[in-house]
Amino acid sequence: MTATIKVGVSACLLGQPVRYDGGHKHDRYITETLGAFFSFVPVCPEVECGMTVPREPMRLEGDPCNPRLITNYSRSDLTEQMLDYCCAKVRRLEQEELCGFIFKKDSPSCGLLQVKVYAGDESAKNGSGLFAAAMQRTFPLLPMEEEGRLHDPAIREIFLKRLFCYHRLQGFLGNTPPVELLHNHV
Ligand code: SF4
Repeated sequence: MTATIKVGVSACLLGQPVRYDGGHKHDRYITETLGAFFSFVPVCPEVECGMTVPREPMRLEGDPCNPRLITNYSRSDLTEQMLDYCCAKVRRLEQEELCGFIFKKDSPSCGLLQVKVYAGDESAKNGSGLFAAAMQRTFPLLPMEEEGRLHDPAIREIFLKRLFCYHRLQGFLGNTPPVELLHNHV
């Protein structure tokens, strides 16, 4: 187990200019306050899966449980490109011994909760970004939150407690604790 507490973060929240428009979404609470306690592992699924900066914006479409990732104007289907990346990336992240993850809200790749999924002209906030969903499937007990929700003091406190607890569990059980062992110790 590493002594530092490692937390994965959507790279644009750390100020990296990786968004579709070449910008970022630097969150100073994350970098300046949480940065005093945690070591960050930046991840930008869209850039890491081979997309350019800048790039065409995209959105989720279809079945909220199994959505497609489609570009807004040229209608390119990027679902397989992203899912192939997610499959390989979650395996690599197992080696990082992360204690949590902070995702960028509303993103079709990184959004954890209530991401818009379109069906025709209608949309509903009932999906998760493809990378966030892959992380949830692979690490079901890993503490995860969105940057927007961390501005709520109660949500923030619970998230931080879970991070420290997960780190201590790693110390007892080694690396990324297997789900069945965690169930017996939480
Ligand atoms: S939300 Fe995720 S995919 Fe989009 S720019 Fe930020 S890190 Fe990259």
